[in-house]
Amino acid sequence: MSMTGAGRATPGGQEPARRHVIVGAGLAGHRAVLELRRLDPSASITLIGEEAGLPYDRPPLSKDLLLGRMAPDALSLPGTADYATLNILHSAGQRVVAIDRAARQVATARGEAIPYDRLLLATGSRPLVLPAEAGAPVHTLRGLDDAARLRAGMVPGRHVAVVGGGFIGLEVAAAARMLGCRVTVVEAAPRLLVRGMPEALSRWAAALHGREGVALRLGARVAAIRAAPEGGAVLDLGGEALRADLVVVGIGIRPNTELAEAAGLAVGDGILVDAACGTDDPAIFAAGEVTCHPIAGQGPRRRVESWKTASEQPLTAARAMCGEAACYEDLPWLWSDQFTHNIQSVGLPDSGVEFVERGDPGSDRWTLVSMDEEGRPVGAVAVNNGRDIGMLRKAIRAGQPVPRAVLADPAARLAVPARAAAG
Ligand SMILES: Cc1cc2nc3c(=O)[nH]c(=O)nc-3n(C[C@H](O)[C@H](O)[C@H](O)COP(=O)(O)OP(=O)(O)OC[C@H]3O[C@@H](n4cnc5c(N)ncnc54)[C@H](O)[C@@H]3O)c2cc1C
Repeated sequence: MSMTGAGRATPGGQEPARRHVIVGAGLAGHRAVLELRRLDPSASITLIGEEAGLPYDRPPLSKDLLLGRMAPDALSLPGTADYATLNILHSAGQRVVAIDRAARQVATARGEAIPYDRLLLATGSRPLVLPAEAGAPVHTLRGLDDAARLRAGMVPGRHVAVVGGGFIGLEVAAAARMLGCRVTVVEAAPRLLVRGMPEALSRWAAALHGREGVALRLGARVAAIRAAPEGGAVLDLGGEALRADLVVVGIGIRPNTELAEAAGLAVGDGILVDAACGTDDPAIFAAGEVTCHPIAGQGPRRRVESWKTASEQPLTAARAMCGEAACYEDLPWLWSDQFTHNIQSVGLPDSGVEFVERGDPGSDRWTLVSMDEEGRPVGAVAVNNGRDIGMLRKAIRAGQPVPRAVLADPAARLAVPARAAAG
């Protein structure tokens, strides 16, 4: 375990400093502790995380880090070097195993009991796995160690089988191709990016990966992964055997909700929170990828797998933990980089009833806007067209119908009411 920073401050003769405990030292936990310190200079703040070292950024793991364009040190999140100065106690390599809500304390795997006045759960997610025979070279990608192992195996000429055609799988496939590997993507659904993305993006991604030399096996389910006697692995695709030197499983993630569940908090697809990040215990909050939260004007609560949510939602949680009025209203927004291309999405791009194209989806620069029954934009996805996303974000937040002809004109700037433009 490594500790940085100092402990609880209790100035004599005054109210004892409030004790904030944060479980999970990823992006969300890190952003929360910095905001808590800004809001509450005298509070005791303890950040507990089971990973070794300081919190770091995950998106480069499947992009620049895998490609060797970025060193692991460069992934440190801004502000982590200030923990000692900010009097933030960081307990790394430490797993929290239970929450005692009555006593208001958490228990660690090492048998410590850490008391809290306000507790934030920022425990994130972990990759789903596929059963594999012992000895088969099967990888998932979530942390720095995973990325280092994977990179070591991506030797030019080797055959990499990527199971799962979602964003992480496709980013790994692109990196492997760029490193000179032979690559096959195996996806059980009939199209790529099936979760949450419109078909136009799936078609574009399939064309991109096809022309970059990635073999696509759509509608193919992996029944078993065996270790090959001569080394490598054999994927059983329901009767057909696919031989690979390396297998990367990118079939999705599951939120780390076990602590919350065991403590009797409401859990669905993530820890259920309100717009202020509160759980059904007034002393316990949750933020980041582990939460299932309301999305302003966009129907029932959802869990969002995106850097932006993990970066912004904890600021709301910190305000609420300090007793301030707080409401998280950001729309989901995410990006992905594959080969030399950038994809961005905002809102719920597959949730509308009608789609309007801005530009040609057969080209490498276009946007697709998803509209509801009233002609209001509810989501969008853009290929190499990030400027559209900023504009459409404001249009979605405005909640007003936008004429089709305006949306369909790639040169048109959208007029957005002043109130929404500020949001
Ligand atoms: C390879 C990769 C690439 C990505 N690329 C993009 C991208 O291009 N664009 C984008 O928008 N998003 C991307 N993301 C998603 C984004 O990085 C995540 O949404 C974000 O990191 C989630 O942050 P978090 O703090 O909520 O959770 P996490 O980062 O999962 O952090 C949670 C932390 O809590 C710890 N923890 C869990 N349980 C306990 C416990 N009981 N006790 C102590 N500690 C515990 C975990 O070990 C972990 O360190 C990517 C993610 C990955 C993995």
